[in-house]
Amino acid sequence: MDLDKFIRDIPDFPKPGIIFKDITPILRDPGAFRHSIAVLAEQAQPTKPDLILGIESRGFLFGGALALQMNLGLIVARKPGKLPYETDQVSYDLEYGSNTLEMHTDAIEPGQRILIVDDLLATGGTAAATAKLVRKQQGIVAGFAFVVELAFLEGRKQLDPDPVSTILTY
Ligand code: AMP
Repeated sequence: MDLDKFIRDIPDFPKPGIIFKDITPILRDPGAFRHSIAVLAEQAQPTKPDLILGIESRGFLFGGALALQMNLGLIVARKPGKLPYETDQVSYDLEYGSNTLEMHTDAIEPGQRILIVDDLLATGGTAAATAKLVRKQQGIVAGFAFVVELAFLEGRKQLDPDPVSTILTY
């Protein structure tokens, strides 16, 4: 299936000069959504994850569905102030602005293998910061899974040497 048809380019969102890759058409089409999750699951299987980690907020959509597809539990990295229990935190720069992510301190048991999921890999700052949270809790980064990769931003370099899988590369 050609998932490319289900990605919409929105110029100058949220800032001038950014071409925003809108993945909501994938979610809106059951065939496209199911296909994207099936491909992500197939690519992730060799990394043998114990848990799926979804990054707020579009990572929740793909991460949640992927966790069910792979019969694995789901944990979440969220924007500050959203999680009710004690949290670990990490701050980082992204393509537009900066951000902090939090994870519950008991999300990961030492030695668990974590697959980090988001809709899109741009500079890699968000995913690399999330990997720091995983390692802080003595988890092992099994790999990263994205639907879309903006290859010209070379985000993969930040995630080296852990495995990175993507469905569509621009
Ligand atoms: P980065 O940390 O630069 O890899 O940015 C990744 C995060 O920002 C992901 O959560 C993406 O959803 C979002 N993002 C960054 N750039 C774009 C873009 N051009 N289109 C859509 N989402 C983006």
